[in-house]
Amino acid sequence: MTKDLHHTNIRFWGGLKTIGGTVVSVEYKNSRVIFDFGLTYDPATNIFDGQIKRRSRGMVRDNLRLNLIPPIDGLYAAESLGSYQRDLIPAEEYGQETAVIISHLHLDHIGAMGLIAPSIPVYVTKESHELYQALEVIGEGVPGIRDYQFCDYGVSFSIGEIKITPIQVDHDILGACAYHIQTPDGVILYTGDLRMHGKHPEQIDHFINEVNRLGLDAMIMEGTTLGSVEEMREAIMGNPIIPEGMTTEGNIPEKMSDRLKETKGLGIFNVYHRNLDRLTGIIKAAQDSSRKAVFEPETAYLLDKLTNEHDFLVYKSIETIFEEQAGTLPEWKLNLFNKHDTIRAEMINNSPGEYYLQNTYENVLELFDINVSEGIYIHSNGVPLGDFDPAYENLKKILTKLKVDYVYIGAGGHAIPSHLKYIVDRINPKILIPLHSFNPERLKPKSGMQMLVDYGVDYVLKDHQITAN
Ligand SMILES: [Zn+2]
Ligand SMILES: [Zn+2]
Repeated sequence: MTKDLHHTNIRFWGGLKTIGGTVVSVEYKNSRVIFDFGLTYDPATNIFDGQIKRRSRGMVRDNLRLNLIPPIDGLYAAESLGSYQRDLIPAEEYGQETAVIISHLHLDHIGAMGLIAPSIPVYVTKESHELYQALEVIGEGVPGIRDYQFCDYGVSFSIGEIKITPIQVDHDILGACAYHIQTPDGVILYTGDLRMHGKHPEQIDHFINEVNRLGLDAMIMEGTTLGSVEEMREAIMGNPIIPEGMTTEGNIPEKMSDRLKETKGLGIFNVYHRNLDRLTGIIKAAQDSSRKAVFEPETAYLLDKLTNEHDFLVYKSIETIFEEQAGTLPEWKLNLFNKHDTIRAEMINNSPGEYYLQNTYENVLELFDINVSEGIYIHSNGVPLGDFDPAYENLKKILTKLKVDYVYIGAGGHAIPSHLKYIVDRINPKILIPLHSFNPERLKPKSGMQMLVDYGVDYVLKDHQITAN
């Protein structure tokens, strides 16, 4: 395996046949761009089971040993590598200029970005940067301490002779983008994660037009929703239409408020709060069903920092009340409570039918203090996401003890197969590289070539063509 230094080299380090954990490097002469740096999402097989303590000083070595992060030269700091310096060149001794670019802040795309040597810039979009700063405040930053650089949609920047242009896409998180990556040998487009049933389908239209205007050779595309031949027999036909009856980000508020109107008791929701469109939709559902939305402090903080929403209350749990009395509340919570009206369990219990209350899985025991009779638990893409997560069984057990009805009203963040195909058809790349999927082979380009890539192979981009070296 020899590297062709006169042309663009591409290597795939993770995420080819898994959901997330995508890591790809693109090298031209003395510069290199690596995109996304997350961890594969699979709660059932995660070696970090919540019982093993992570070693903050040994994280890079431990993760390399467990094959959770890729063994890439020149990416990790010497002191974090320890004995791994025998196998890997530390960032300090590497001759090339490297930058890491991040498509969006889901853990399967950022989980390990804190482990990259602080000397290497890690770029996120401006919106992602704002979201990340808020996440750090509420204790949801990724492990590792470092700074992040930001870029903006449509504004190109260069790493050596590699030119990068972020293009906004719609996904179930603020700040998501695709990257258009140009070297003197050709152009690669990395889609990140995207969907057409979100609140902003116009962003996908704009994304397609931008890509077509800028031009491309190879398209690296996510394929999360692609099923196997057994699961979906027919070839996938491209089609932008939202199938009848499909739950979308846009119709979730109505579906929720319909259900809340039929419910006499408390409405409870479990949400993934990085999806700000969903939070806004929840407030709308509460308004439409004559209820008041109540958020846990962490989520309320995101709403406060990143949206213009004011019509909500902040929930004060027993723990929070104790912290307040002991004077140990963190600064951000104090400020939040000064700025927004708060509510305790007793108040909710006086008239549960007037509220729509957030309950994340980790706080599920809080519901033991709350009057949930004749209430409804609306699961809206909060963890545990489904029965592939062992915690899902636990959640169901607790809800059974509470004797509260359960309903799922959620929408995924990934384009359905007909939409994936529609996007590919409209862009019509010469080379399509599907990944971030259990069945990448199902997504085929209209007239170009489908390329199913492997780990450990150097791909060479030369004269706008890609070949395996
Ligand atoms: Zn993903
Ligand atoms: Zn994602």
